[in-house]
Amino acid sequence: MQLRHDCQLTSEEYVKQRAWESASLLRCPEHPEGGCGFARHTAYARVEPPGMWIARWYCPEAHLTFSLLPDCLASRLSSTLGEVEDVADAVEQRAGSLEAVAEQLRPDIEAQGAVRWVRRRVAAVAVALKALKGLLPDVLGSVAPTLVEVRAALGVDTVLCSRR
Ligand SMILES: [Zn+2]
Repeated sequence: MQLRHDCQLTSEEYVKQRAWESASLLRCPEHPEGGCGFARHTAYARVEPPGMWIARWYCPEAHLTFSLLPDCLASRLSSTLGEVEDVADAVEQRAGSLEAVAEQLRPDIEAQGAVRWVRRRVAAVAVALKALKGLLPDVLGSVAPTLVEVRAALGVDTVLCSRR
C-alpha cells in the first residue's frame, strides 16, 4: 500500500539526504491502536531517479507493506505530453513485462489500474505515430511505427513535444 510522504524535498535532495532513512510512520495505518507487530521493513530501490529508495513498513497481522512515496515522485506522475511519450518509451524499451513497467511507473496505485494507465498511454502514442506517418509519408512511409524509429527519421529527441 502506498502512502504519501508529505515532504518539500526535490527528488535530488531526497536522494542526497537519504531522506527515506528518516521517513517515519509511527503507527500502523490498519491498527492505530497498536499491538499488531507493525515494524520498519527493508527499503526498496526505484529505478528512477537513480539512488532513490522508498521507506517501507510491514504489518504482520494485516500482511501488508506500507511504502512512503515522497511528494516529489508523486507529483511527477501527472501526464504532460512528454510524460505520455516517456511511458510509451519505457514500454517500447522494456526488458521485462508490461506489468513490471506499470508497477515501476505507478507505484502509487494498484497493479491492474497501473497496467490500464500504461496501456491507455501506449495506445495514444500508437495513434499519434500512425497519424504522423499519414502526414509525412515521404519521411515516415517506410519507417516502423515505433518511437525509436520515428525519432531517428525525424531527427528529434521527442516526437509528441516536437510535433505538437
Ligand atoms: Zn497493523
